[in-house]
Amino acid sequence: VLVTVSDVPKRRAADRCPGVMRPHAAQDGLLVRVRLIGGRISPDGLTAIARAVQAGNGIVELTGRANVQVRGMAAEDLEPLAARFLEAALLRTPTHDRARNVVADPLAGRRAGALAGASAIDAVLDGLDDGICSDPALAQLPGRFLFCVDDGSGATAGVDADVRVVAGAGGAWAVVVGDRALATGDGSDAVAVALDVARAFLACLGDARAWRIVELPGGAARVLAELGPTDGVPRCATAGAAPIVGTLPQRDGRVAVGALAPLGRIPRGALDLLAGIASTAEVRVSHRRSVAVLDVDTGDAPALARTLAAAGLIVHPGSGWEGLTACAGAGACASALADVRAGAGARATERASAGPHPREHWSACPRRCGQTADVARAVSALPGGAWDITELTR
Ligand code: SF4
Repeated sequence: VLVTVSDVPKRRAADRCPGVMRPHAAQDGLLVRVRLIGGRISPDGLTAIARAVQAGNGIVELTGRANVQVRGMAAEDLEPLAARFLEAALLRTPTHDRARNVVADPLAGRRAGALAGASAIDAVLDGLDDGICSDPALAQLPGRFLFCVDDGSGATAGVDADVRVVAGAGGAWAVVVGDRALATGDGSDAVAVALDVARAFLACLGDARAWRIVELPGGAARVLAELGPTDGVPRCATAGAAPIVGTLPQRDGRVAVGALAPLGRIPRGALDLLAGIASTAEVRVSHRRSVAVLDVDTGDAPALARTLAAAGLIVHPGSGWEGLTACAGAGACASALADVRAGAGARATERASAGPHPREHWSACPRRCGQTADVARAVSALPGGAWDITELTR
C-alpha cells in the first residue's frame, strides 16, 4: 500500500501522554516516562533510573523524543519514585512534568556543521526548560507538543517538532513554525519567541482537541497570526539526519561514541554501565533511541565502543537495527495482535546485509504507537495473522 502522509489526525480523546506524575497503565504494569531536555542526563539521573528499573519489571526504553521510560511499576512505588526523580532533577516541578518536551541532537554544538557551540546550545536548552517550568500557563501544553533545538547543522532533520529553535551564522538564531522561519536575535531572544509561540498555541486551542500545532484548525498560520506581526521568511531546507552510531567526529578533534539500544530497549546491566561512564564523561540520549558518550579522546574510542557493545548496545554503523523501531507489543500491551518485537528482531538480521536502511517501524496492531514522522515503511499486525506493509511518501 502506498500512501502520502498528509492526513492530520483528528484527536477525539484527551491527551493521555504518560509522565512521572501520570503513568500509563499498560498490560505489564505502570509505565513512567521521564523527559530529558535535549537528551541530557546526569550520573545521578542515570542512577535514579537504574534504581527505578529494579522496582519495575526490568525493562527500560528510550523513546523517539530522547526520553526514558520505565515499565512494570507498581502504584505504591510511584511516590518514592517521584521524590527520587525530583532529587535527581529528572523532574523539575510536578506541574510541568509532561510539558517539558525539548529535543536536540546529542552532539549539538559539536558537529562539523554546527553554527553555535555546545555552551550556546546548552544555554538555549536551559532557557527553554526554565521558561516552560516558570510559566504556570505552559503546564497546560499537551504532552505531545514538541520543541526542537538545532545547532544549524540540520542534525535534527526529520524531528517532527512544533517549534524549532535553530542556530544561524554570526550568533543569530531563528524560530521555525510551520514553513516560516522567524528571525530573532541571540539564543535568549529565540527562547523567548519559542515560548511565545507555545503560548499562542494555547491561546488558539480553545475547545479544539489538538495536541500539536499542525492539528489545530488553521495550523501554523493561525498560531503566527495570534503571535502578531512577524518578519518570517520561508524556512531553509535542512540537511539529512546525522549519524548517531559508532565513532562520531567532533569539531574540536575529539569524538563521541554513539550506541543504539536495539528496538529502543536498554539491555539489562547497560544502565549501570552508563551511570558509571557518566561519572567521568557526558552521556546524552538521542531521539533515535541511542546514547552518545561525548568528548572522548580518539584513542580511547575503540575500547569504549567495545565496552558498550559487550553490554548489548549496537555500536556498528549500518547495522540492521539502525532506523528500526517497534511498539511495546505482546506482553506489554493488551492490544497486541502479534509478537512484533520478535518479528522486528528477525527483520534486523535481514536488513543487516541490505543497507542503506530506510526508517522502518513495526507495530503489533494498526494503531502504530511510537511511529515517528520520518518513518519510510510501516509494518503493522492485522487480525487473523496478516500484516500490513505501508510505504510512506512525503
Ligand atoms: S501499536 Fe497497538 S499493540 Fe503496539 S503499543 Fe500501540 S496499541 Fe499496543
